[in-house]
Amino acid sequence: MMVSALHSMVDRTRVYDFMIPKITDELDLSHGTILYLEGISVSFDGFKAINDLNLYIDAGELRCIIGPNGAGKTTMMDVITGKTQPDVGSCWFGQRMNLLRMSEAEIAEAGIGRKFQKPTVFENHSVFENLELAMACNKKVFPTLFARLSGEQRDHIDEVVETIGLSEQLKTEAGYLSHGQKQWLEIGMLLMQKPKLLLVDEPVAGMTHQEMDRTAELLKTLAGNQSVIVVEHDMDFVRSLESPVTVLHQGSVLAEGSMESVQNDQRVIDVYLGGD
Ligand code: ADP
Ligand code: MG
Repeated sequence: MMVSALHSMVDRTRVYDFMIPKITDELDLSHGTILYLEGISVSFDGFKAINDLNLYIDAGELRCIIGPNGAGKTTMMDVITGKTQPDVGSCWFGQRMNLLRMSEAEIAEAGIGRKFQKPTVFENHSVFENLELAMACNKKVFPTLFARLSGEQRDHIDEVVETIGLSEQLKTEAGYLSHGQKQWLEIGMLLMQKPKLLLVDEPVAGMTHQEMDRTAELLKTLAGNQSVIVVEHDMDFVRSLESPVTVLHQGSVLAEGSMESVQNDQRVIDVYLGGD
């Protein structure tokens, strides 16, 4: 009796709201799903930017979101990160964290990192210092930072700089990096916070083809260790990610599947890809 009661409490769908603490420290991925968006609607002056949106992201998954301008892609990210509160719907991070009850800061601290389109690196600081500063933004690290970097923190910087392919630029001032390198550095700065879910909005705008290829490699490397949601317009880039694709249209999911299946979906061709 006790045991079955316990089981039903663990099942997220059967937990009463009042039983859930506002913030739980542990991200519960026991069902393999890191993000649940269910029945989400957002309106601006009566216009539905998001309309009954349902989206599920697996732990470690790389997912690409495409769709015409105004489809609601950025608004969706605003909901996930706590910037915009939906009119209705639910939004869960793992089984137990109710994102709609958390502030933007709490959501970031819980492990959701967001990369905006424009890189915001500190131009007058080296790559190393940028990564160090990003680590300092983490409240748990901040109090100890001015003492000295621990071996573990140093190792983490080395690991991240390797991942983003900037080992040789470690001492270079960020202002001297190429546009693509700055974007990678910013992804590295997010990685310093050890996010569990990364949201990346149009990462390859303004990049050279070579930089785009390396960005695809980078995002593919990140998947597995964390989940990554990429919003992107460049179809060649989306194809190179070889990930499942969700097509948003008028604030809802129009189609979902491999790039190939989505590309051959007549509804998708009609509203989005037809002009390509
Ligand atoms: P996407 O990122 O897919 O291009 P957005 O999420 O930016 O689309 O926008 C979806 C729709 O919501 C658009 O029609 C846009 O004009 C509208 N919208 C977005 N943010 C606001 C806002 N703060 N106020 C009013 N309308 C908005
Ligand atoms: Mg957008």
